Amino acid sequence: MNNYEIVMGLEVHIELATRHKIFCRCKNTFAKRPNSVVCPVCLGLPGALPVLNPEVVSCAVRMGLALQGELDRDSRFDRKNYFYPDNATAYQITQFYRPILRGGAVLVQTGDGHETVIRIHEMHMEDDAGKLTHDPENHVSLVDFNRKGVPLLEIVTEPDFRDADQVIAFLEKIRMFALYLGISDGKLHEGSLRADVNLSLRKAGTDELGVRTEMKNLNSFVSIRRAIAYEAKRQEEVLTSGEKVVFETRRFDEATGTTKVMRTKEEVMDYRYFPEPDLLPVHLSEAYINTLKEQMPEFAPEKSMRYQSAYGLTEEEARILTKHPATAQLFEKTLELWTETGASQLTARRAKSLASRICGDLMYLCREKQAESGTWKITPEALCELLKMQEAGTITAKTARDVFALMFDKDIRPMVYVNENHLLITKDEDALASAVDAVIKAQDKSVSDYLSGNEKALWHLLGCVMKETNGQADPAAVRQLLLAKLAQLKG
Ligand code: ADP
Ligand code: ZN
Ligand code: MG
Repeated sequence: MNNYEIVMGLEVHIELATRHKIFCRCKNTFAKRPNSVVCPVCLGLPGALPVLNPEVVSCAVRMGLALQGELDRDSRFDRKNYFYPDNATAYQITQFYRPILRGGAVLVQTGDGHETVIRIHEMHMEDDAGKLTHDPENHVSLVDFNRKGVPLLEIVTEPDFRDADQVIAFLEKIRMFALYLGISDGKLHEGSLRADVNLSLRKAGTDELGVRTEMKNLNSFVSIRRAIAYEAKRQEEVLTSGEKVVFETRRFDEATGTTKVMRTKEEVMDYRYFPEPDLLPVHLSEAYINTLKEQMPEFAPEKSMRYQSAYGLTEEEARILTKHPATAQLFEKTLELWTETGASQLTARRAKSLASRICGDLMYLCREKQAESGTWKITPEALCELLKMQEAGTITAKTARDVFALMFDKDIRPMVYVNENHLLITKDEDALASAVDAVIKAQDKSVSDYLSGNEKALWHLLGCVMKETNGQADPAAVRQLLLAKLAQLKG
């Protein structure tokens, strides 16, 4: 790829998690039973009229603010005409002439710390189509209209991407916006975030855009990376052999890692866009925009900076804590509860220990259980209770970790649990003394090793006493007592 530069632009679809569909009162939920969430509007029955769901506008405006573009105060809907069996109206309602957002910019950072501004061309609202299932064995195709009318935002970028890392960083940022705004779960593999990649090559050092292809069916970051690598190489081979790249839509095939022609320029449809006569323009008042502006959340990059400067967390810790809003919320709420008690100079230390519990144990549990962030049962109240007990020295670090792991999928009150299971650190000094005596008697080899100057033998004896007390003894107290008894033996 020495002679050529890769140029890419994205078309990203975000499925919105609104309560209702975009133009009717059907629930916007994932229903297993086909055609169970449908009505005359989304089935395209004659005479049924669409009514715009205001939730969708709110999602669009907030995403528009995040993308820092120009919101059209009077955007419109248009009909994109085409027939397909999963689309009973024979047209899609989208925004073509007056999209709700034009322009915008997203700063993306790639692994090497390199920053690039990706310009947004436009963003618009539209409805999703239904779903076809082909059953070649029985020679039938089945159609399910549950998804018809699910609201979508489509974001179109300028051709500003030069490599796959930038594409993925951009999609991660869009997903971060969607999660923090609470407008979508942003899952690529479930289709709530979909990206089509337009890719062309041009001679390095030139400005003119080359002929592009569009790749569809990319449902993971891994597929996106593979598709880009394959397609760039394919186009390079076409160009170096003196041929021309054909403007076409290609489908990425997971199994072979290649892209295949889906439709060519000759098959590009004329959609005969015209203004949707059944819907009014979408008027946005300044007051409405301002209200939504005031409700904008603190996004991950700003949060991460704040965590680092306010609590002295590392960049890595702050990144992990802010990646998903549920994680950031657990961190912030727990710390807030914890700092209600005690001096403020403890805050940084507590933030650090809370951060390591979340970044270490919690993220490990999520990976192990293949659970999404936020699906855990851990509440800030319960976590705070646990951390307070550990801080006060009433439970050992090991007990804290064990109870925390249980809290992941069970609603546990740590204080109650610890009491019921006798996990409090043993304060019973007689019990401790007899445990130490028993170990000294049983481990005479280690004792004599220690007495003849082998300091390491003490570790073994310590471990034996902890075992003897089922881990419920305070290690510092055990150490003190052991040293005292051993000193007596020496003397
Ligand atoms: P269409 O109207 O055919 O969908 P657009 O002009 O809207 O085409 O562009 C669609 C996407 O393709 C945009 O993200 C744009 O940045 C990108 N794009 C356009 N031309 C090129 C090109 N020559 N190389 C790479 N990407 C391109
Ligand atoms: Zn409906
Ligand atoms: Mg387009």
